[in-house]
Amino acid sequence: MTVYSGPVFDMAANQFGVIADYLAIPADERDRLLLPKRAVVVSCPIHRDDGSTAVFEGYRVQHHLTLGPTKGGTRFAASVDLGEVAALAIWMSWKCALVGLPYGGAKGGIGVDPSSLSAHELESLSRRYMQEMIPFVGPHIDVMAPDMGTNEQVMAWFMDTYSMYQGRTVTEIVTGKPVSAGGTLGRREATGRGVAHLAKRVMTERSIGLNTATAVVQGFGNVGSIAAAELQAMGVTIVAVSDHTCALHRPAGLDVADLMRHAAKHGSLLGYSEELKCDPVAMLTLPCDVLVPAATERVIDANIAGKLQCRILAEGANGPTTPDADLVLEKRQDEIFLIPDILCNAGGVVVSYFEWVQDLQQLFWEEEEVTRREYQILNRAFDQMASRVKRDNIFNRTAAMAIGVERVRAAKITRGLFP
Ligand code: GLU
Repeated sequence: MTVYSGPVFDMAANQFGVIADYLAIPADERDRLLLPKRAVVVSCPIHRDDGSTAVFEGYRVQHHLTLGPTKGGTRFAASVDLGEVAALAIWMSWKCALVGLPYGGAKGGIGVDPSSLSAHELESLSRRYMQEMIPFVGPHIDVMAPDMGTNEQVMAWFMDTYSMYQGRTVTEIVTGKPVSAGGTLGRREATGRGVAHLAKRVMTERSIGLNTATAVVQGFGNVGSIAAAELQAMGVTIVAVSDHTCALHRPAGLDVADLMRHAAKHGSLLGYSEELKCDPVAMLTLPCDVLVPAATERVIDANIAGKLQCRILAEGANGPTTPDADLVLEKRQDEIFLIPDILCNAGGVVVSYFEWVQDLQQLFWEEEEVTRREYQILNRAFDQMASRVKRDNIFNRTAAMAIGVERVRAAKITRGLFP
C-alpha cells in the first residue's frame, strides 16, 4: 500500500515495472527503489488582494538520497497533487542518474493556476511555500528549480526567503535563479537548447537535412519556445506550435521570434492569428521530421502514437507518452526515433547542477563553457543509451531508464541497508 496514486504515478510505476523486469530486479527490492524516501504536504495561507485569506496545498517529494541531495523543479499548476509530484520526482532520479549527476530526484508544487493570482499574491504564495519548506530543504539536502508555472522570479523569491531566515545569502539553495541573483548564464535556455541539440544529432545521423527539415512543437513555455527558436536557428522550418490557449499551423513556417514577442506581451499565443489556428490534437499527427511535445504529461496515447507522422519524437516535457503509446512506438522504432524525456530534457537539470557548483564555489563560468559542457554530458548519455539499445536490442526508453535505475540500484547495494 502507498499514499501515492493517480494516473501519473501509475504511469511512473508501470514504466518502472517494465525496467525492473528487464533488469531482473528481485521483487523484494522493487519498492525500495520505486517508493519515495519522504514527502511533505504543507498548507500555504496567503492574504488575497481583496483582503480575504486563501489556503493552497503545497507538496515536496524527495525520491532518494543515495547519491547526494535531491534535485528537481517546483510546479505551480491546477493539476498538481501528491501522486503527480511523486511521479515527477521518480523521473528526476532516473534522469539525474542517466546523465551522471550526484543527485537523487525530487519535485514539488502547489495546486494553483498561477494566472489566477496577482503579482503580489504570487509572491506571497511563493515565499510562504519556501518558508514552509525550510525544515526539509537545504543546499546539501534538496535543491529546487523552476518547472511548469514557475520561473526565475519565483526562484529569486525562494532564495531570498530562505536567505532571510538564515541571516545570510544562500544562493545555492535553488537553481534557475536570475543571473543578477547568483544564477548561471545559459540556464534559462538550457532545456530547450538540449532538446534542439539532441534532435539535431539524430537528424544528422539519419541524414535529414536541417534546411529541409520541419518541426512541430507542443508547448510554448520555457522549453518549447527555446527549442523552437534553436531549431529555427539551425535552419529547421517550424510548421506548427501550440500552448494551452491555441495551436497555430503554417506549412511555410512560423516566425518563432515573433511568436515569442507575442507570448511575452500577452502571456500566451492567444490572439496571434485567427487564420493560422488549427486543432491542437490534430497538430501532433501532422507530417514533420521532429515532433517536440514540451507541454505536459500523457498527451501521446496509444491512438495518437499509431497516427504520428514524425521521424523523431523529442520529448521536451516529462512523461508526455503513456505506457500504452510506448508499446506502439516500440513497434514503430524503425520509423520514429524516440529521444526519451529523461535524456531529451535533461539539459535543464545538467545546467542547474552547473549553477549549484558555481554558487558553492563562487566562481562563475562563461556561457560558452556552460553550453559546451551541457552538450558534452548529453552526448555521453546519448552514446550510452545507444550502445545499450544495440547490445540488448531494446527500445530507447527502456535503455535510458534502465541505465538510470541500475546506477541508483548499484549505489544502494554498495552502501547497504542501515540499520
Ligand atoms: N524542472 C526541470 C526538470 O524537470 C528542471 C529541474 C532542475 O533543474 O532541477 O528537469
